[in-house]
Amino acid sequence: SDSLVAQTACQKNLTANQLEEANVHFLDSMSSLPKAPDWLVIKIPKSLALLEYQLAQVQTIVGENTKIVAAAKAKSIQKSTLSLFEKYLGPTHTSLAKKKSRLVFSKPTLPIAILPSPEPISWQSDDKQLTLINYANVFARQQMDIGARLLAENLPNCDGKRVVDLGCGNGIIGLTVLQNYTDCHVTFVDESYMAVASARKNVESNFPDRMSQCTFAVSNCLEHFDKQTSFDNIICNPPFHQQNTVTDHIATQMFEDSKMKLAKGGELRVIGNRHLDYPQKLKRLFGGYNVIASDRKFSVLSSNK
Ligand code: SAM
Repeated sequence: SDSLVAQTACQKNLTANQLEEANVHFLDSMSSLPKAPDWLVIKIPKSLALLEYQLAQVQTIVGENTKIVAAAKAKSIQKSTLSLFEKYLGPTHTSLAKKKSRLVFSKPTLPIAILPSPEPISWQSDDKQLTLINYANVFARQQMDIGARLLAENLPNCDGKRVVDLGCGNGIIGLTVLQNYTDCHVTFVDESYMAVASARKNVESNFPDRMSQCTFAVSNCLEHFDKQTSFDNIICNPPFHQQNTVTDHIATQMFEDSKMKLAKGGELRVIGNRHLDYPQKLKRLFGGYNVIASDRKFSVLSSNK
């Protein structure tokens, strides 16, 4: 899985159903798959780019006896989905729909002529100073998010500060901090393994001599950090979509964790769509907030501990 949160939910479900956790080995999206499994079961992801990345990995490990079955809601199995199975694995057919879902079966003809894995997409920041690569499942993979742009233009003073880029995606916010402040430490945090891997690669390529000023963590909000860890500035462009629904529960957890992990006087700076009730949440948690900037759609808000 690319998601630490999904992996944790899966672990909880094993326990809840008295299934032996020792029999299950979790692999993150950046790890290599084991060779020649008997069965390969795929839950087809919503993102076609992620599916393509996964199938490019799968083509390299299928064996003589590997049986491949994939599943998704019937409406999300398009011609383009099946073409990817055919491109990377060979002849593919689907089952009839049952409870609005379908199965996809592929039968690779061995030996497979291995196709190269698609390259991560890259784009440049507005000032052309930063080049950002994005692995398949990363937010704003094709271009800079408009919220991220307003936040990057309204960063707090990070001079000499311990800074967190919370929900870092490709790391654009933390990289902009590094670009503007030479003396700071930036911790890049995301629950997506591909996001954190992208952020790491982006620091390595844009600021190769500043890796020692950076930490990278796959974490559900700030759960990964122990009680003693504290930060001066936490900067965040929170997610507000999960699957197809608008949600603010992750933002709420991010704000609560930030309150816990900020040093006294430390600052949380967030960007939010103006229709979300981030101001109320910040007021409840921190006792107040300032509006640093806003445009027609977004506001940049700041609260101090
Ligand atoms: N900072 C990047 C930017 O501004 O372009 C990405 C912002 S995107 C709106 C939100 C990010 O939060 C995504 O990269 C997503 O993977 C991450 N995220 C979602 N749930 C999370 C969680 N529970 N803990 C940490 N990060 C999470």
